[in-house]
Amino acid sequence: MKGIPAWLSDESGTAEMRRMLEGAQPFDIETLAARARSITLRRFGRTMSLYAPLYLSNHCPSGCAYCGFASDRTTPRRRLEEDEIGREIAAMKELGIQDILLLTGERTPQAGFDYLRRAVVIAARKMARVSVETFPMTVEEYRELAECGCTGVTIYQETYDPERYLELHRWGPKKDFLHRLETPERALEGGIKTVGIGALLGLSEPVEEALRLYRHARHLSKKFWRAGISVSFPRMRPEQGGWKPPFTVGDHQLARMILAFRIGLPDMDLALSTRERASFRDGMAGLAVTRMSTASRTTVGGYEEGGTGERGQFDISDERSAEAFCQALRERGIEPVFKNWDGAYNGPATLAPSAEGPKETAACP
Ligand code: SF4
Repeated sequence: MKGIPAWLSDESGTAEMRRMLEGAQPFDIETLAARARSITLRRFGRTMSLYAPLYLSNHCPSGCAYCGFASDRTTPRRRLEEDEIGREIAAMKELGIQDILLLTGERTPQAGFDYLRRAVVIAARKMARVSVETFPMTVEEYRELAECGCTGVTIYQETYDPERYLELHRWGPKKDFLHRLETPERALEGGIKTVGIGALLGLSEPVEEALRLYRHARHLSKKFWRAGISVSFPRMRPEQGGWKPPFTVGDHQLARMILAFRIGLPDMDLALSTRERASFRDGMAGLAVTRMSTASRTTVGGYEEGGTGERGQFDISDERSAEAFCQALRERGIEPVFKNWDGAYNGPATLAPSAEGPKETAACP
């Protein structure tokens, strides 16, 4: 494929990361865990930053082979209207959530930029931190979202293998590998403060995939040294289409990957979502992971009524409430926090004046 940046295959400075990922001596998992724990403690203390996703819309024109919202799935399609977004956010606040990730599929007439911008404004009035995981946008669109109170953009490349990417993204706008790869840079150029990247583990050979993800994180942190970069490790989960991934990433391999990233990228937030089992998340919390989702729903809405029973984009594993999860963290000596200082730097959302008064400070239930 033409135009692939050189950094994606740059082997320089990756020899040790490769050996850690492959489990070569002396990098047995106990050694990695001890080094990772010590780095995490020194750089982040005993804290865990928490967030929760809100699916705004499941309309999508794309045909990603692994996704329950792909346009060939029979999922009923809907989007949240403004009054519903407000009620969902109020219900999330009742659960103690103050850091929200707004999600949509690819850009559609039902859920395009203007719709997303309104949702960001509504969320920014109530939440301490607002991020989006949606369709790739232009620099100007990211600038506008940042002005409305959005501070974070999550965009997973899914797989960094260009051939595999073309095969799995069967149709739709997401088929453009390079446009997606360049999205985190456009977001940061537009004034977004943090970007989250990741690969959907199971789509490609795991060690090579992790190395390309590592190179991407390294490239972004060098080019945008003042930005916050976080790396996620989502594993494939069952979805309603029943698609089976070509590779299996076991617990041991995933743990090794996360520990190696903590050692290779000591200052970067490493995130783990509710795709993973409670016991695995609890184990990684004290070692290397510094950001986790909680109380997640992967259907459109679902917080106000406590879930509709329909299947979402994928199945989640850790179904604990925010309160139960915070309690589990505290029992391990880790303080859960919903980040609450972005609003102080951003000023108020600009699309329309808020009648709600100042944002509240964060407190976990
Ligand atoms: S992964 Fe995203 S773009 Fe692909 S089908 Fe699912 S919602 Fe659409």
